[in-house]
Amino acid sequence: MKILLVFDFDNTIIDDNSDTWIVQCAPEKKLPIELQDSYKKGFWTEFMGRVFKYLGDEGVREDEMKRAMISMPFTPGMVELLNFIRENKNKFDCIIISDSNSVFIDWVLEAANFHDVFDQVFTNPAAFDSSGHLTVEKYHTHSCTRCPQNLCKNVVLVEFVGEQLQQGVNYTRIVYIGDGGNDVCPVTFLKKNDVAMPRKGYALQKTLYRMCQNLEPMESSVVSWSSGVEIISYLQFLIKE
Ligand SMILES: [Mg+2]
Ligand SMILES: [Zn+2]
Repeated sequence: MKILLVFDFDNTIIDDNSDTWIVQCAPEKKLPIELQDSYKKGFWTEFMGRVFKYLGDEGVREDEMKRAMISMPFTPGMVELLNFIRENKNKFDCIIISDSNSVFIDWVLEAANFHDVFDQVFTNPAAFDSSGHLTVEKYHTHSCTRCPQNLCKNVVLVEFVGEQLQQGVNYTRIVYIGDGGNDVCPVTFLKKNDVAMPRKGYALQKTLYRMCQNLEPMESSVVSWSSGVEIISYLQFLIKE
């Protein structure tokens, strides 16, 4: 039986946020104030749709965006971690659940040759249209009140694990590696055997710490990390058990 590794993308696999990183392609590397101010809480995908339209209208082309995206640094120790997972693929299944988009994630995984590490990527579907604009759609609709309207990572995870079970794949445990506010929902639903791995100093770790102080119950264990190399040590410990 395998362990399921769930990765967030922005600020977890890569050491920045792809949606804000892409702004360096804009003229003077910034967005007009009206566009910046047009973001409404919970409607990030719509906002990014407007950003991509603006970049397209300003003549920013696909290859330019791709070049910017693949210049994003990986988080410390992440390349080592992904190589470790590849070498131990018989012990791990590995998925990404991200609020970025399919084009950005494909570019990054392809450029670094990491596509084979991941069994599936769940993210907002994106594509370039005939006029060269990048368009992005929301991943799904859901009724979770804690998550942005385009993506509840817990719903995605529960569906994936359910489908795997129907195929006869049962995981010994889930290890969830993330950093952000939208990783809180899936992490709080993890079970006794599972492990939440929040990145040290980021929103997910801060929220879990606050919940712990408020004595809010959580079944999974919590192991925080600063480098992917620390995650390797922990996974080595898990697969030796
Ligand atoms: Mg993140
Ligand atoms: Zn949710």
